[in-house]
This record gives sequence, structure tokens and C-alpha cells, in this order.
Amino acid sequence: MEKLIITVATTGGVTTREKTPYIPLDPKEIADEVYACWKAGAAIAHIHVRDKNGKPSLDFDTYKETVQRIKDKCDIVLNLTTSGGLDAPDEVRIKPVELLPELASFDAGSVNFGPAVFQNSMPFLEKLAKAMQEKGVKPEVEVFEAGMINNALMIADKGLIKKPMHFQFVLGVPGAMPGNPKNLLHLVETIPADSTWSVIGVGKSHLPLSVMAIHMGGHVRVGMEDNVYLKRGVLAKSNTEFVERVVRIADEFERPIATPAEARGILGLRT
Ligand code: ZN
Repeated sequence: MEKLIITVATTGGVTTREKTPYIPLDPKEIADEVYACWKAGAAIAHIHVRDKNGKPSLDFDTYKETVQRIKDKCDIVLNLTTSGGLDAPDEVRIKPVELLPELASFDAGSVNFGPAVFQNSMPFLEKLAKAMQEKGVKPEVEVFEAGMINNALMIADKGLIKKPMHFQFVLGVPGAMPGNPKNLLHLVETIPADSTWSVIGVGKSHLPLSVMAIHMGGHVRVGMEDNVYLKRGVLAKSNTEFVERVVRIADEFERPIATPAEARGILGLRT
């Protein structure tokens, strides 16, 4: 079986300091946390940034500083979000692609997200796909609902996403597909056979879906963007605790962990 790629999403756009005092928010905190996770076995860092008040932000300079701080410390693969807040204008969402990350999130459709609606119209997605293609940034196709796979394939058929594609299944968001084995299996069976995939279990599906992905040959994303509890009622004190747990479990399954260089090879990233 292919080596296991662990992505860490240290911060996200939703988790607050009220939910967990341990979440890194400013560029230095995020870079230090990513570095610690890289040492623990993470090959990819999925990055969001926040403003001075800890609110979700797509401020280009903050992105730039965060990316530079991480690059100064380690060779982890960078995956920048293009979601930021839930209602940022198209151009602001696309802008982080100019920092030339090797990967960027590509949310392949609109979906309820708690009380809000996360909007990703087809014209926006085509614009985003074009911008990524021009810069050699590989889309990490985030799938919250099964129909999003088809959206991404329609865009790929127009020549705007290169195959083989990389999918990130996001299960357990309130308003989208629940995080259970049946849903994960259905999604894995629906994508083109040559694709790579990873899973995010939001909240309590975090651990069971990670274990399924390790067993099924997929890849895993962990971190405080998706879940703050290590166990019921026990907050993780650092994102590294999530990475370390996946490394331990993968070791029991005899599934070796991919380095960033190996992850670049598996996903066919620009080097
Ligand atoms: Zn994200």
C-alpha cells in the first residue's frame, strides 16, 4: 500500500480560542505549530490565517508572512485555503494562489455549513481552476456532498483540472454528509480509479474515519480546524497530538508515513 500522507490543518476559519485555548492563530504561532507537526510526521500543512482579533481572514500579507515563516523552518507541502471566510469576494479567495503553494483547497460546490451557506458557484469554480492551472497549483478537491465529485469532473472535462485528481472528503460538517463508513465508502467508489484521496472527519468522526482511511489506502487530515478533542472531553494541547496518534495507528497497520518529498511524488506536485 502507498505511504500514508498526513495533512495537518492547525487553525481553520471556524475554531475559536473559546473552544480551545491551544489553537495557533497568528503567523508565528501557526508556523511554530506546523514545524512541530512536520517533525511529528505531517507531510502537508493546510493553512488559514486570522486577523488581529482572531477572525477568519484572507489578508494577503498575513498569508505571505505565514508561508515565509513555514518555508524558513521546513520542507512541508503547503496547501492554502481558498475559502477563508464564508462570504469573501471571488478575487480575494483566489488571491492566495499567487503565493504558489503546491496545493490549494478547491471546494467543489455549495453546501450548508452550520447556519450559513458556503457558496461555490460553477462560474467561480471555473475561475479558480483556471487561476490554479496557470500557476501550477494542484487543486485539493474538497467534497462535502457526493454531487461535488461530479462538479469537479465536469470542470476537469473542460480541461481545467488535470488528472489524476486529488480529493479531500469532508465528512461531518453540520449541513453536509455525516461522517460514517457508508458515506466514505460511497465517495471512494465514486471518484475516478486513478485518483488519490484523503479524508477529514469533522468532530467525533475524526478518529474512526482516519482509521478507515489508513486501512483503505487513502490519506488523512487531522487538526484543530476539524476537531479539538483528543478524547471525549479532553482537548488536544497541540495539533501534534493528532499527528502523533495517526502515526501510532498507521504503525500498527504497518502503513509507513510519507515524507513531504514522498507526498510530492504520490500527488504529482510541482516541485
Ligand atoms: Zn480549511
